[in-house]
Amino acid sequence: MRSKLRIVIIGGGFGGLWAAKALANRPVDVILIDRKNHHVFQPLLYQVATAVLSPGEIAKPIRRILYYAKNIEVILGEAVEFDKATNIVKLDDGSEVSFDYLIVAAGARHAYFGHDEWETWAPGLKTLEDAVEIRRRVLLAFEIAERKAALSGVKEQLTFAVVGAGPTGVELAGAIAGIARQALASDFKAIDTSEARVVLFEGSDRVLGTFASDLSDSAKQQLEELGVEVRLNSFVTEIEPGRLKVGDDWFKCDVVLWATGVAASPLGAQLGVETDRAGRVKVEPDLSIPGYPNIFVIGDMASLLQESGEPVPGVSPAAMQMGTATAKNILREIKGRPRANFTYVDKGSMATIGRSKAIAQLFGMKFRGFIAWLMWLFLHVVFLIGFRNRLFVLMGWFWAYLTRERSARLITGDAEELRNALTFIEAESPADESSAAHRDSPRRHRTSA
Ligand SMILES: Cc1cc2nc3c(=O)[nH]c(=O)nc-3n(C[C@H](O)[C@H](O)[C@H](O)COP(=O)(O)OP(=O)(O)OC[C@H]3O[C@@H](n4cnc5c(N)ncnc54)[C@H](O)[C@@H]3O)c2cc1C
Repeated sequence: MRSKLRIVIIGGGFGGLWAAKALANRPVDVILIDRKNHHVFQPLLYQVATAVLSPGEIAKPIRRILYYAKNIEVILGEAVEFDKATNIVKLDDGSEVSFDYLIVAAGARHAYFGHDEWETWAPGLKTLEDAVEIRRRVLLAFEIAERKAALSGVKEQLTFAVVGAGPTGVELAGAIAGIARQALASDFKAIDTSEARVVLFEGSDRVLGTFASDLSDSAKQQLEELGVEVRLNSFVTEIEPGRLKVGDDWFKCDVVLWATGVAASPLGAQLGVETDRAGRVKVEPDLSIPGYPNIFVIGDMASLLQESGEPVPGVSPAAMQMGTATAKNILREIKGRPRANFTYVDKGSMATIGRSKAIAQLFGMKFRGFIAWLMWLFLHVVFLIGFRNRLFVLMGWFWAYLTRERSARLITGDAEELRNALTFIEAESPADESSAAHRDSPRRHRTSA
C-alpha cells in the first residue's frame, strides 16, 4: 500500500514536462517515463537540421530539468501497452508500473498517408536524430555536387524538395535557401551553391494555411524573395529515390524532406477508446478518456473541440496548458474539490521564414517581415529550457545573423555510414525522361567546368 498517490506521466515533451512541473514537490509521487533521456525544444529543430544550432543547444536531459523535484522519478523506457482495469503501464522491457492517475503525452509524428515506405526517401522532422539526418543529407548533397564538378567537370543543379507548406515546411525551405545563397556560397569552389533550387510543394492553395490569408500571401512572397519556388495545389502522390510525382509529372530531386500530415503516437490506440483519423484520442472536456476518469491524454495525442467548434491545435502552448491543467485537476481532486474543464487560451501564432522574415498574428494584430521575425526570436529564446541554452543560442544567432555563418555544418557518421549515404543520394533514379516537368528541369543542362 502506497502512502501517497502515484501519478505516472508518459512523455517528457511539452505536455508531460509541464504536468510534471506543476506536480513538483506536491504531496504525490510522480514517475515520468520517456523513451529519450532529453526534452527537445521542437520549434527549433529546423535550425539543427539546417546547421544553425547544435543538438545540445535545443535539448536538455529531463532528469536535469526536474532535478529539484524531490517527488519525481524519471525513468528511461518506452511504454507499449496499458492495462486499464488494473492501472498498469507496460514497458518495452516487460517491466510494469502501476498508477493511481495516468497522463499520456507521447506526442505525434508526420503521417505519410498510408505510404510509410516514403519515410526512407523523404524523412520528416520530429526528433534530434531526424534533424541530424536531414542536416547530413542537405550538406552531403552539396559535397557530392562539388565532387562531381571538381573531379569530372559535370555541373548539375541541385534540387531540394520540401513537401508541405505548414510551419515546418516553410522554415525548412526558407533555411535551405538561406544556406545555399548565403552561408555556403563562398566555401564551394567548383559549384555555385546559390543556383540550387528549393521547391516547396503544397497540396492546398496557400502556404501556412492556419494563418489569415493576407499573412499567407505575405509568407509566400517572403519565401520567393529568398529564392524558394512555391508550388501550390501540388499534391505529391509518389516518392521514389531521387524523384517525386505531382499529378502526372515526375520531378527529379536530390533531397526530399517531408513536412505534412499528423499521426498521433500509436499509444493512443492502445488505450482502447475512440480516436480520430489521425489517431488522436477523443478526450472528455477535462482531458480524461471516456469511462476512465483517472487516465488523461494531453498534447498532440488529444483530440478536443473548443467552444468555438475549432479543434485545440497541435502546438506547444496547447500541450503545456493541457499538462498544467491536468496536474491541477488531479491535485484538486485529491483535496476533494471538483475538476475544471480544459479551456485553451490562444495567445496567437507565428512562423519564421528566414533571415529577417516571418509572420505573426498576436493579440488580434498582424505582423510581417523583420518585426515579426524579432518577435519570433525573442519568444523562442524566452521559452528555451535552461539559462545556458538561452545565452548560447542567442549568441549563436547573433553571430549567424552578422556573418551569415552556419557554425554547426558538420556531416557526422562513420566512414561506412557516409559511403552509404553518398550512394543513397547519388542513386540514379528511374526518372521518366519524357515528362514535361523533367524536360524543363535545369538538371538536364550539364556544362563542363
Ligand atoms: C519540427 C517541429 C516544429 C514545431 N514548431 C512549433 C512552433 O514553432 N510552435 C509551436 O507552438 N509548436 C510547434 N511544434 C509543435 C509542438 O512541438 C508540439 O505541439 C508539442 O511538442 C506537443 O507536445 P506533446 O507533449 O504532446 O508531445 P512531444 O513534445 O512530442 O513529446 C512527446 C514525448 O513523448 C515521448 N514518447 C513518445 N512515445 C513514447 C513512448 N511510447 N514511451 C515513452 N515516451 C514516449 C517522446 O520521446 C517525447 O519526449 C513543432 C513541432 C515540430 C515537430
